[in-house]
Amino acid sequence: MSAPDDGCHVNLVFVLGAFALLIVFLDAIGRWQRTVESVEGERIIAEVRLAEDRGTNQAIAQHPIIDVQKCIGCASCVKACPEAGVLGIVDGVARVIHGSRCIGHARCEEVCPVQAIVVGLGDISSRSDLPLLDAAFETSVPGIRIAGELGGMALIRIAVDQGTRAMKAFAKELRAEPRHSTDTFDVLIVGAGPAGFAATLQAKEEGLRVATIDRQDLGGTIRKYPRRKLTLTGTLTLPLHGKIDREEFLKEELIDLFEQIAKRHQLKLTTGLELLSLKGEKDGFIAKTSKGSIRARRILLALGRRGIPRRLGVPGEATEKVLYQLIDASSIEEERILVVGGGDSAVEAALALAEQRGNVVTLSYRREAFVRLKARNEQKFDEAVAHGKIRVLLPSTVKSIDSDSVTLELSERGVTQQVVIGNDMVYILAGGEPPYALLKQAGISFGGTGNPDATSEEIPVAMGG
Ligand SMILES: Cc1cc2nc3c(=O)[nH]c(=O)nc-3n(C[C@H](O)[C@H](O)[C@H](O)COP(=O)(O)OP(=O)(O)OC[C@H]3O[C@@H](n4cnc5c(N)ncnc54)[C@H](O)[C@@H]3O)c2cc1C
Repeated sequence: MSAPDDGCHVNLVFVLGAFALLIVFLDAIGRWQRTVESVEGERIIAEVRLAEDRGTNQAIAQHPIIDVQKCIGCASCVKACPEAGVLGIVDGVARVIHGSRCIGHARCEEVCPVQAIVVGLGDISSRSDLPLLDAAFETSVPGIRIAGELGGMALIRIAVDQGTRAMKAFAKELRAEPRHSTDTFDVLIVGAGPAGFAATLQAKEEGLRVATIDRQDLGGTIRKYPRRKLTLTGTLTLPLHGKIDREEFLKEELIDLFEQIAKRHQLKLTTGLELLSLKGEKDGFIAKTSKGSIRARRILLALGRRGIPRRLGVPGEATEKVLYQLIDASSIEEERILVVGGGDSAVEAALALAEQRGNVVTLSYRREAFVRLKARNEQKFDEAVAHGKIRVLLPSTVKSIDSDSVTLELSERGVTQQVVIGNDMVYILAGGEPPYALLKQAGISFGGTGNPDATSEEIPVAMGG
C-alpha cells in the first residue's frame, strides 16, 4: 500500500530532473550565444581596424549619421543596408564602419524603429571639397544656388529632388520682386543632368522665364554610364510629369524617358553650350558662355562633380588610342589594353574588357592597394587577377604612351624600375576634375581650408549592373 507516496516521489524526481536538464540546456544556449557574440564582436573590431587602415571609414559623400543616445542596437539598419560593411554593431550600438561605401540608398533611415539614423552629409564645414550651402541650396553668393551631385550627394533621386526644391525657392523669391528687363532671364540653369532637368520642369510649372544650357546633352552623367547599365533610381517624382512608376531602368530607357518628357513639355534646352565664368550679383548676373553672354537674375548650378576627366599629362596622351570613358566593352576584342585608375570605374572597366575574346588587360594604379572599392568589385577583381585574367601593376605610374607600347614606373619591394608593355589602347579612368575653379571664380565659398583642390575623390555610386 505505498502507491500514492511512490507516485509523488517519482513525479518529484522527474520534475527535478527536467528542471536540471532545462538549466543545462539554457546554460549551453547562453554559452553558445556568448561565443557567437564574441566571434561577431571580434569580426567587427577587425573590420573597424581594416576600415581605419584603408581610410574607408571616412565617408566621401552622403553617409549614415547615428544618434547613439537614441540607438537601441537592434541592427535593423545593418540588415537593411544593400552595400557590404557600411554599418555594424559595436558595443551595442550601430556604428559606421566603411563610411565611403555608402551610396545613399537610405534604407537604414527607413527601417530604424527609433529614428536614430539619418543619411546626409553631416557637418560639412570641415569639408574643403564641398561648397557651403544653406537649407535652400543657396551658396555664399546670394542668388546662386547649387543642386545635385555638385553639392556632394550622389544619387539621381536626390539630384531631382534638390533641383525641384532649389527652383521652388527661386520662384518664391522672384514672385515677390518685379521684373525690370526683358533681355534678362529669371533663372539660368547650368547643367541638364537629373538636377537641371527637374529644375527646368519646375521652372516651367512656376511660369518662370529660364534658359537651360549644357555643354553636352540632356541626362548628364547618365549618358556616360556603360551601355545597358542597370540604373536604380528609387522613387522619382518629376515636376509636371508626376511620379514615375518604375525604380529600375536600363540607362538607355531612362534617357529615352527624359527625352520624351522634355518633348511633351516643350522644354528649351540649349546643348553644346558651356558656362565659362560668372560675374555680377543677384538680379544682374552675366554668364559668359562658349557662345556669348547670358543675363539672368538668378543662377542654378547643376554641374555635377565629374567635370573634365582627369588627365595624366604624359607624352603621347593626346593620341586616338587614349580614351577617358568606356561605354561598351562588348565591341573590343583582341586588344592589348591598359586601364589606369583605382576606383570602381577603372576596376569595372578592366573586368568588362577582360571578359572579351582575346583581350590582354593590365591595370595600373598609383597606390599600393585599392582603398575605396565596393566589396563586390574587389572580390570579382581579386578573382580575375588570381585566374590570370587581369595583370595588375601596383603601385605604378604611366610615364609615356607610344603607338604600340606604354612605359610605366613600377615599385616592387622598395625597388623602382621602368616597365615597357605592349599596348593598343589606354583607358584613363582616374576620376574627373570637379568644376571648383568655376565656383571659386564666381566667389562661392567652400568648407574646411577653403581649398577644394586638396581633396577630390571619386564619389561612390550605385552600380546595380
Ligand atoms: C558609372 C555611374 C553609375 C551610376 N549609377 C547610378 C545609379 O544606378 N543610381 C543613381 O541614383 N545614381 C547613379 N549614379 C550617380 C548619378 O548619375 C549622379 O548622382 C547624377 O547624375 C547627378 O546628377 P546631376 O544633375 O547633379 O549631375 P550630372 O548628371 O553630372 O549632370 C551635370 C551636367 O552639367 C553639365 N555641365 C557641367 N559643367 C558645365 C559647364 N561649365 N557648362 C555647361 N554644362 C556643364 C554636364 O555636361 C552634365 O550634363 C551613377 C554614376 C556613375 C558615374
